[in-house]
Amino acid sequence: MSSEDLRALMEADRWHERLAGQRATLLERVELARVEGDLRERLGALRAAEARLEPLARAYDEASAESSRLRERRDRMASRLEASRDARESAALAGELDQVRDALAAAEDRELEALVEVEPATEAAAALRREAQPLAARRAELIAEVAALESSLDEELAAQHARREAAAARVEGPLRARYEAALTRAGGAGAAQVLEGRCDGCRIALSPLDLDRWRHAADGAYPECPSCGRLLLP
Ligand SMILES: [Zn+2]
Repeated sequence: MSSEDLRALMEADRWHERLAGQRATLLERVELARVEGDLRERLGALRAAEARLEPLARAYDEASAESSRLRERRDRMASRLEASRDARESAALAGELDQVRDALAAAEDRELEALVEVEPATEAAAALRREAQPLAARRAELIAEVAALESSLDEELAAQHARREAAAARVEGPLRARYEAALTRAGGAGAAQVLEGRCDGCRIALSPLDLDRWRHAADGAYPECPSCGRLLLP
């Protein structure tokens, strides 16, 4: 068996790790979390705006109902006064009509005051709802995008795992066991290359003595990196 089989297994494991890393750090998932945080904040603001609006709207409805009740009463009394042929009754009706007119003017003032408060509060709640709409749409888009990316990466990961198992099957028993043990310990891959005096698994420089040991290792010996324990390929 050649060191090429071990190298192929290392490459397969490294590729699998890159795919898994890609799946774990999808930018779309990061954006989705941001959009959801933003939406939750806006939803809180909307609930607060609606809570402020509710008593104002009730006060307006009450004032408005009172005004229309008084308007009807005024119209009824005005008709009765017009139809009245009795001087004393007419005088009494006219006095009462004045009172109703005063009460109506006061009720209409209250209605107008309430309206002045209700309008901006209604607009504020509507604006919050409008602003949340594109965010909600973006959220739906991102959920679909993340699901599609995850499922395509899962397929690639499964295919890569199969390729990895095939590469592992070509590595002989004891060496395979050493490789798998190093992989469990170090993660990513169980072997590494020495590039410019460094282990490219953990990127730590080898001491001159370890470098020497690596250079003069017997065929198939694969000394371990003293820092990460990965098998060092020739
Ligand atoms: Zn190392």
